[in-house]
Amino acid sequence: MSMTERQLPVHAAMNQFFVQDGELVVGGERLSLLAARVGQTPFYAYDRALLRSRVVALRGVLPEGVKLHYAMKANPMPAVVGFMAGLVDGIDVASAGELKLALDAGADPLEVSFAGPGKRDAELRQAVAARVLINVESFREVVALEVISGELGLPARVAVRVNPDFELKGSGMRMGGGPKQFGVDAELVPALLADIGRAGLAFEGFHLFAGSQNLRSDLICEAQQKSYELAVRLAEDSPLPVRFLNLGGGFGIPYFPGEQRLDLAPIGDNLAQLAQRARTELPDAAFVIELGRYLVGEAGIYVARIVDRKVSRGQVFLVADGGLHHHLSASGNFGQVVRKNHPVTIGNKVDSLEKELASVVGPLCTPLDLLADRMTLPVAQVDDLVVVFQSGAYGASASPQGFLGHPACVEVLV
Ligand SMILES: *Cc1c(COP(=O)(O)O)cnc(C)c1O
Repeated sequence: MSMTERQLPVHAAMNQFFVQDGELVVGGERLSLLAARVGQTPFYAYDRALLRSRVVALRGVLPEGVKLHYAMKANPMPAVVGFMAGLVDGIDVASAGELKLALDAGADPLEVSFAGPGKRDAELRQAVAARVLINVESFREVVALEVISGELGLPARVAVRVNPDFELKGSGMRMGGGPKQFGVDAELVPALLADIGRAGLAFEGFHLFAGSQNLRSDLICEAQQKSYELAVRLAEDSPLPVRFLNLGGGFGIPYFPGEQRLDLAPIGDNLAQLAQRARTELPDAAFVIELGRYLVGEAGIYVARIVDRKVSRGQVFLVADGGLHHHLSASGNFGQVVRKNHPVTIGNKVDSLEKELASVVGPLCTPLDLLADRMTLPVAQVDDLVVVFQSGAYGASASPQGFLGHPACVEVLV
């Protein structure tokens, strides 16, 4: 590494990437060389070393025995799933398509769980045959699973996904509490458990997922404690001992100026206390934490090349070859109420002292196609590389790539 290598102070999100000769370093390679290797822009690059160090950091604070699962919908690139499968204890899937990817990646079926509100009978059948844990989300699923289990001569392994009677406060996206399409309302769970017992399914535990993108460790601790206590109450009606208690996740990452990284230490302490209580209250249960964004989000960047530079009535527009169609969330159109800029830089001129106020737009014929709205950036020209940080989760697979017929992006694991 050259002597100019140093850490960037620009934004919390950039701290983990190094700079060499003015260029961002990703996967140990300068960005311009990586772009040449990939052979095209736009592309996503995910950094193995950052993925690994994130898991190592988490393991450092999670108490012994707590299982770490990867919720692969955050980034289903096959190479990423394969890499993560080797680092975590299990994979959470949300469709039969993801189930196939997880099994292809070498995940242990006994440590794969399948959640989602609309599991079709064909998907349930594949999941039973694969011997993965199915998070039951309706009474209908129990009926279907009884039939399928009989046909296959294999009792379905099930957990009950509970729609809790509380919400995860401070969450970017709430997925539990109040009326929800996810899980079964806590007050109906005793009846569902009775059905599961009568159907002869292999009941293994509970799954509670309250929400996503939370940066407040105190609120995450509160949700985990309430989830645990609810599970202890529900376990009184369970047909078999609780073997798994999936307490969800919802760990967020900083996207916007002023957002701080999640403080993991209190979460580790809280889980250790709950695990201590579980020794008497749920003695057969292993805790599971399922994380998507937190594991992969900060390890990925999106890279697009500037194809035009325009000035319109005094405002600079850098027109890139990529945008909303590959990276819906950076454009602000994936669940954001008020659009804010993701961290963006010019990746081959990172520490240039020449700066200007510029907007980075994509090639689509819609004003929604915006990667950066009037940001202070290094002065950039045609052929320079725009980088969007915090792009490892809900990127390529969560974007409308067919919209307007531009070429698809490429993904690389480096
Ligand atoms: C989406 C999802 C996750 C992952 O959420 P992140 O915010 O990416 O961590 C975990 N569990 C379930 C059930 C989900 O639907």
